[in-house]
Amino acid sequence: MNPGVFPIFQSRADHAPQAPFLRLEDGTVLSYAAALDRTARIANLFRSRGVQPGDRIAIQAEKSAEALLTYLAALRIGAVYLPLNTAYTPAEVRYFLGDARPALFLHRPEDEAAMAALCAELGVPERLTLDADGRGTLAEGADAQSPQSEVWQANADDLAAILYTSGTTGRSKGAMLTHGNLASNAATLADYWRFTASDVLLHALPIFHTHGLFVATNTTIMAGSAIQLLPRFDLRKILQALPDATVMMGVPTFYTRLLSDPAFTRDLVSHLRLFVSGSAPLSAETHKEFSARTGHAILERYGMTETNMNTSNPYDGDRVAGTVGCPLPGVELKITDPETGTEVAQGDVGMIEVRGPNIFQGYWEQPEKTREELRENGFFITGDLGMIDARGYVSIVGRAKDLIICGGYNVYPAEVEALLDAIPGIAESAVIGVPHADMGEGIVAVVQARDPALDEAGILAALAGQLARFKQPRRVVFLPELPRNTMGKIQKKQLREQFARLFH
Ligand code: ATP
Ligand code: MG
Repeated sequence: MNPGVFPIFQSRADHAPQAPFLRLEDGTVLSYAAALDRTARIANLFRSRGVQPGDRIAIQAEKSAEALLTYLAALRIGAVYLPLNTAYTPAEVRYFLGDARPALFLHRPEDEAAMAALCAELGVPERLTLDADGRGTLAEGADAQSPQSEVWQANADDLAAILYTSGTTGRSKGAMLTHGNLASNAATLADYWRFTASDVLLHALPIFHTHGLFVATNTTIMAGSAIQLLPRFDLRKILQALPDATVMMGVPTFYTRLLSDPAFTRDLVSHLRLFVSGSAPLSAETHKEFSARTGHAILERYGMTETNMNTSNPYDGDRVAGTVGCPLPGVELKITDPETGTEVAQGDVGMIEVRGPNIFQGYWEQPEKTREELRENGFFITGDLGMIDARGYVSIVGRAKDLIICGGYNVYPAEVEALLDAIPGIAESAVIGVPHADMGEGIVAVVQARDPALDEAGILAALAGQLARFKQPRRVVFLPELPRNTMGKIQKKQLREQFARLFH
């Protein structure tokens, strides 16, 4: 029985106290023992502020070692960790605090006035501040606490976190994740990706999202590896840090940005053993370009806030560009008819459903939404459309909400995007459907061009021979850059709004 992320963290610290856990930009190294000590002090501070097991601790703070340790401290006392995107404005934070009613809110010192007012209004009893360097009333309070602190004995089905989804398709939903959800997925990933105590993970992802917080951190802890913590993706700093890392986890934009720099060479990364990509689709083009430049095949995996990770390309064996690999051990995955819920024939496109110890308990205080998406038999309806090939590799063809229905025919954006991305001179593309009087929806290709000579007629001509007529975009529009959120997810909802009147 897996005892949970925190007890494993503690046992790592007991067995190899001096092993590095966090390496910081300024060269400071925090050992497992030092980090454990810090979680005790922070835990005592939380308790002294009245936080009880099951209470929510919300945080909106810049990424720092101290911020990451608040996650472990929350696990330590059985509180429910609730990280918020640093980009949210106070008006947006109001929704989350009102929804989750935390016992304690950690926020940036510069937001003092706005957050004090919000907390008073919403009845959030306690606040602490945390700045980008890890200083503030949290650190001051923790310094004064004892390094002895009881560890709360969590059951596998006790809540560990409420993580809000990215809000790509609508309002963010709070996914309730248990200690068992987190620990089981971390153990699977550490094993599947062959993490060991000698690994150093280059970590430039935000820590308010499942990728940087759970996939990166929990996997590291499971194996007793180290994290090289960078506050954000900064190309120059990544290039500097790569020589000391063995693994990198990133979103696709990390990899396209690395490839855009000639200093990113095969020699620079020859000793790394693994590059992982997820959170958004990695184009087959980027996968191929990366292999050609570095000799490394990026390992693409697929997961979501509600489920942690579901599938992964293999460590040994083919990492197939344009696929997200096979279901992880312990995860069942099936493709169903979105209307009836019955399984479709092998190779057909349908709704991806997943079941396993990684699946969340439901949406925080949204029983209706939970019932709609989480079946009684334990399968979660992901909202992603995909297919499984004869070898068991899963491909995602787009979100159900991004499916285009044109003249009664289904058009899967990913198929058209893959062909667009392969046209020389196209940097990237997003294919959307917008209202069209005759067709219901008209297909629009939104393109970021690398080559200024590229024009609409040329692109349409290039596609014509490759796609059935009904899948061909009616229009191609150019943008200097596609709108993305901090996880590199293209904001198709925004594009649909922007081009809503293209056919009117
Ligand atoms: P919301 O649920 O609020 O609309 P979101 O789905 O973007 O937002 P996340 O949980 O952060 O919120 O993202 C999960 C989604 O990201 C998946 O459902 C899938 O659509 C997409 N995704 C993750 N990994 C991959 C991948 N490797 N390839 C394609 N899509 C991916
Ligand atoms: Mg989602």
